[in-house]
Amino acid sequence: MNEHSNGPAPSIAAVLSASDWAEKLSTETVTIGGLPIVRLTRDEMRGLMLSDVVEARSGAMMRPRVITSANGSIVATYHSDPAVRSSIDRMDMIDADGMPLVLASRMFCKRPLPERIATTDFLLDAAAEATRSGIRFYLLGARPGVAARAAEHLRYRFPGLQIVGTRHGFFERSDLPKICAKVIESGADVLWLGLGAGLQETIALECRDRLPGVAWVRTCGGLFDHYGGGVSRAPGWMQRSGMEWAYRAAREPLRLGWRYLITNPQAAWHLLTKTHD
Ligand code: UDP
Repeated sequence: MNEHSNGPAPSIAAVLSASDWAEKLSTETVTIGGLPIVRLTRDEMRGLMLSDVVEARSGAMMRPRVITSANGSIVATYHSDPAVRSSIDRMDMIDADGMPLVLASRMFCKRPLPERIATTDFLLDAAAEATRSGIRFYLLGARPGVAARAAEHLRYRFPGLQIVGTRHGFFERSDLPKICAKVIESGADVLWLGLGAGLQETIALECRDRLPGVAWVRTCGGLFDHYGGGVSRAPGWMQRSGMEWAYRAAREPLRLGWRYLITNPQAAWHLLTKTHD
């Protein structure tokens, strides 16, 4: 083990499966609304996590892969807020959390996105893989107590899942070195970072060089609120038709209603005019 390796090696089965995945995976992107979105399925994303964890634990990966997701609101903000754009441009990978991005790719691309990777669903795929392969999660973000409750919920659903630490997401920037040291000390392979769009990308970039041995920093917005804060999710038909935003807006009209009222027309414009292979 070299100085960056992160605890015991995963099982032989996990290593073999990871090398299978590493051969199969291509992280090519397609331009959706002006953003480079990775063309992976949810299952391939799970395989990428496994293969990155094996690589990070072997010491071959010097810093984590930083992954975020885009929806219509992010597409709009990307074009209107230079600070957000600059952070998003420095991400290693962006996936399509929003169905409107998938629909736009179907309209304008010869090789559209295979599917939506809703982070709320992907967390469950990732947790199943983590339970099988001994991958360790750390949950950072949301109001005090919420990430810890989300961890309890996930441990209940996936007996044996190792969530090696949780922390709320309200802190001073000066606390960041200490927080990163705790994450390293915990032996986490994947840091789920749920601080909300914009802030979480900035913090992910600030952290990445302080997290050797960690395979992924995966932003996840308000995800912990779904699993630990009693925030419900839109019905399936709304998720599939690209209308999840309407459910969220109706639930929190003051905060999110305004957000979507402003960003939806902008997002539609960018999706219609800046989507291509
Ligand atoms: N949050 C946080 N620290 C902050 C600001 C926000 O941990 O300094 C959390 C907040 O409690 C919520 C999440 O970030 O859990 C933001 O949720 P939202 O639904 O706004 O994020 P989105 O999914 O739209 O990016």
